[in-house]
Amino acid sequence: MGKEMDWGTLLRESAANIRQLSLYYPVEKDVAKLTRKYPMRINPYYLSLIKEREDAIWKQSMPDIRELEDEEGVPDPLHEDEDSPVAGLVHRYPDRVLLLVSNRCAMYCRFCTRKRGVGDPFKRIKKEQALKGIEYIREHEEIRDVLISGGDPLLLKDEELAFFLERLREIKHIEVLRIGTRVPCSLPQRITDGLVSLLRRYHPLYINAHFNHPGEFTEESRRACSRIADAGIPLGDQTVLLKGVNDSVDVMNAMIRGLWSMRVTPYYIYQADLTKGTKHFRTDVDEGIEIFKSLKFHPSLPMPHFVIDAPGGGGKIPITPECRFYDDVNGNDIKALNLESLEYNTLKSGLEDARGKVAEIIVIELGEIEDKEDKGVYELLKQYHPIYINMHLNHPDELTDDVKRVSSMLSDAGVPLGNRINLIEGVNNDPKVIKELVLGLLKLRVKPYYLHADREKDGLAIVNSLRGFTTGMAVPHLVVGDRIICPNYIVEKTSEKIVLRNYQGRTFEYPI
Ligand SMILES: *Cc1c(COP(=O)(O)O)cnc(C)c1O
Ligand code: SF4
Repeated sequence: MGKEMDWGTLLRESAANIRQLSLYYPVEKDVAKLTRKYPMRINPYYLSLIKEREDAIWKQSMPDIRELEDEEGVPDPLHEDEDSPVAGLVHRYPDRVLLLVSNRCAMYCRFCTRKRGVGDPFKRIKKEQALKGIEYIREHEEIRDVLISGGDPLLLKDEELAFFLERLREIKHIEVLRIGTRVPCSLPQRITDGLVSLLRRYHPLYINAHFNHPGEFTEESRRACSRIADAGIPLGDQTVLLKGVNDSVDVMNAMIRGLWSMRVTPYYIYQADLTKGTKHFRTDVDEGIEIFKSLKFHPSLPMPHFVIDAPGGGGKIPITPECRFYDDVNGNDIKALNLESLEYNTLKSGLEDARGKVAEIIVIELGEIEDKEDKGVYELLKQYHPIYINMHLNHPDELTDDVKRVSSMLSDAGVPLGNRINLIEGVNNDPKVIKELVLGLLKLRVKPYYLHADREKDGLAIVNSLRGFTTGMAVPHLVVGDRIICPNYIVEKTSEKIVLRNYQGRTFEYPI
């Protein structure tokens, strides 16, 4: 169903009211009242993913009367409206802002944090408002990174989106642009060739998608992610832990494996926010931590941060527990290749070898990048996706013109690039040096995955100096020996609440 339709038609054919929904499923009368308060939209594509009543897709999209029965949550748990110097722009962290450009989405997720505004025709975001936000960004030179969100920015028409991106790219102090969108998952048909060829004009541009369940990995969503990755756009994912949807080790492991196979970097896993109307989705914090500990992470592939977005607006605070890498990293779907360089023949035989062993994901760890003018290498890489390349840059002085050129060609060949840093006394054991390195890497579309340190204390000091002050994308996971360690931001934990400390030292409570 909906497979051959273009995205505009799919949106128009959505079930957006009870009458339309009842064409597919019997609907209770109360639901009409509910959808006047919290809009519904399920497009035929997303609807076609439902296999049975109450499955993970159903729960995310079907209005549920319990949304009206939640007396605990608050409409704006993250105080976005308060941290907003101009309407539609949230300036919470020193160096980056959230810019809302649309309040519409391809599907209205029942658990949405912005339930208070998405889909409401009276809360449409006008072009003039977004332009005021852009004016604010122009006047604030400390902003280096703009996260364009909504609603869903990709519900804008290509020209509208290009208009905003153009204005933002004119601003000299903006280094990185990001788009937060659920479209690769909820309406993958929106990811057209035209759209990606438009987006790739604004590099470094990142896209963060939002998948919550392996049932959302389809031929269509794979094609959408491929198109984005092939355009050299680093693709990340943010997943919300949701009760009855994905709160199990097996489901989350399948999520991570699936994301890797689509060249999507798992970025954040969120504890659900305290949004009014979403209580029935909230999982227990300790359960989430237990699930996270059991996930199968790989030493050269990206792993997510598990975070609570602090109620009251303190920002995202990690509650990532101590973990270990999964032992059997060369299982039957991952093949780690250690190559000295990107020499064509060695590369080709390595990739063939990986393919022969049902390698779904091929990891190449490179000690150093060779200066390659040879286009053949890049053409070769394109034929063997998914391929990840891990670099090993330890110091900003290593971001030479050669490295810049090669990494840009690799990105354009659709290869997600990661980096491992070794913390070395006298070389880079200095927060300023590491900060310059990680922000430099992000400008090159390279994500710092891991920071290896001999002494835990040194590594923690570095991570603490980055967290919050820079984007989470710049914060590597600390590895000491065989342990993956996150600084402890939990100040106190009782049977009722957890008290968290944010990067500024302020404390926030989240009820358990
Ligand atoms: C999530 C968020 C950001 C971006 O955070 P990163 O860690 O950089 O991904 C920026 N501003 C606000 C208000 C946010 O909620
Ligand atoms: S796509 Fe994002 S903004 Fe839109 S309803 Fe879903 S969670 Fe909310």
